[in-house]
Amino acid sequence: MIFGIDLGTTNSLICYLKDGKPEAIPNAMGKVLTPSVVGVDDTGTVFIGAAARERLYKFPNLTAHSFKRLMGTKQSIKLGAREYKPEDLSALVLRALKSDAEAYLGVEVKDVVISVPAYFNDNQRKATKLAGQLAGLNVLRLINEPTAAALFHGIQDYEAAAKFLIFDLGGGTFDVSILEKFDGIMEVRATGGDSFLGGDDFTQVLVSLFAEKASLSYAQKQNPSTLSAIRFVAENAKRSFSEQPQITLDVIIDGVQKSALIHLDEYEAACKGLLDRLRTPIERALRDARLRVSDLDELVMVGGATRMAIIRKLVTQLFGRLPARYIDPDQTIALGAAVCAGLIDRNIVFDEVVLTDVCPHTLGTEVIDYDYQNNPVGLTFLPIIERNIVVPASRVQSVLTAHDGQTQLSIRVFQGESRDCSKNVLLDTIEIDIPSKPKGEISADIRFTYDINGMLEVDVDVEKANIHKSLIISKLGAHVDPEELEERRKVLAALKIHPRDQEENRYLVERAERLYEQSLGERRNTVRLVLTQFISVLEKQDLLEIKKARDAFNMALNSLESEGIW
Ligand code: AMP
Repeated sequence: MIFGIDLGTTNSLICYLKDGKPEAIPNAMGKVLTPSVVGVDDTGTVFIGAAARERLYKFPNLTAHSFKRLMGTKQSIKLGAREYKPEDLSALVLRALKSDAEAYLGVEVKDVVISVPAYFNDNQRKATKLAGQLAGLNVLRLINEPTAAALFHGIQDYEAAAKFLIFDLGGGTFDVSILEKFDGIMEVRATGGDSFLGGDDFTQVLVSLFAEKASLSYAQKQNPSTLSAIRFVAENAKRSFSEQPQITLDVIIDGVQKSALIHLDEYEAACKGLLDRLRTPIERALRDARLRVSDLDELVMVGGATRMAIIRKLVTQLFGRLPARYIDPDQTIALGAAVCAGLIDRNIVFDEVVLTDVCPHTLGTEVIDYDYQNNPVGLTFLPIIERNIVVPASRVQSVLTAHDGQTQLSIRVFQGESRDCSKNVLLDTIEIDIPSKPKGEISADIRFTYDINGMLEVDVDVEKANIHKSLIISKLGAHVDPEELEERRKVLAALKIHPRDQEENRYLVERAERLYEQSLGERRNTVRLVLTQFISVLEKQDLLEIKKARDAFNMALNSLESEGIW
């Protein structure tokens, strides 16, 4: 069986096909969403998911979140005594999904399709694949998130022809895709986005507004624990903005209660810069697809952040209509990834569905630029595969030697849209020794082949010298040295992971610890009492009693939280 995974900035989930229908698999806590949060405690035990998310409040330095935003970079995240790469942390989340799904279904989870933002560049895709390998998974395909969403949306009624736009705003990324569906064929016409723009940025605006209104000192604004406490409250408050026009944020800072009342209008004005950034990729995708807004039959909203009232308002203004609301924005992508798994597996149910996708970024190389009198004037980008070409695609361009006696060709492979290569992403370089000849006598054919996973293969042919060189920029895992992979996998395997079957108990304890810190006076005392009571039951290790106590403890915490924190 092949599984579909959405490795999200905020939450992740895994789905499978049950009787031909995609279905989400609950985790060890019985929930389908596993927060993409990893934490360690002072014994070195690693937590993944809801318990780790609760620890964010108290232990920001021992908890990592939103690391999807760092995928493909060389940055490390320090947790306790250890440094983790973003793909290590993602691997821990994937491993939790894998082991929870295995416990739930009783079968091994090995082959998977993982979704990635369409706008992820090659480095970010490579890192995602590596995370899968580190988690012991066989990543058969990376599917673009909006394509996965479209696939799920499309199979609901795949006979009906339609052009639709998928607006996907997750925790850390924004993707927009335009698709056309006809005769069971799903064709991605164009895709665009911003891989550094998501719901987290909208939370950050609220954090800044609070800091300003509550007149925090410079030291308080710089303090990671204070910021983490504000962010926690702001995250929940942001959700309330979906239902009410004003919110009050209350945070205890240095033992003092600080409050700020914020109106939706004011918040919307503060988010103007972010809202403007959402427009550009939409306009470009429409241009690339050669469509007008009025040509679209439907608008599909995906990603948790599309629940925000200000986002819905923007979308309604941009498109002059209300978006389709009937699909669950949190689960759509993973469900679509499971449909994609069914296509790979040749599941009979999807016999008549064909999916085509496009390449999100332009791929090319760097060449010397000449003016109209043929004088060299510097370097420029030479696009070979242009963005939004249907994949798989293969294109060739010829280049000539630029100097007399040149003995080497250095072919640099870039991804991006700028004429200036330094503003694009350098993917790799191919060096080729060539025989010394007068300028322009040796020509090389550079062929780029881009596959359905968003992976690029570069072939260079220098016919006169009978040289052929091929570079696979990132075929499934080929780029990682197997020894290094094994080494890193061993390090992760040796980590002490908090037992998944005790996840819920730990989550409740961490939640109560957080509530204790957030409360004052009588409420704080109540939290202490229920927490001590629950811990004493845990110590007795009587499973039935623990279950009973857990339900009571959960109810007590729910009621304390619903009353507010004072
Ligand atoms: P995703 O990565 O798709 O899980 O999206 C997570 C983002 O959605 C986070 O930034 C959340 O703050 C945001 N989000 C989830 N639910 C809501 C809601 N009800 N209102 C506003 N934002 C939400």
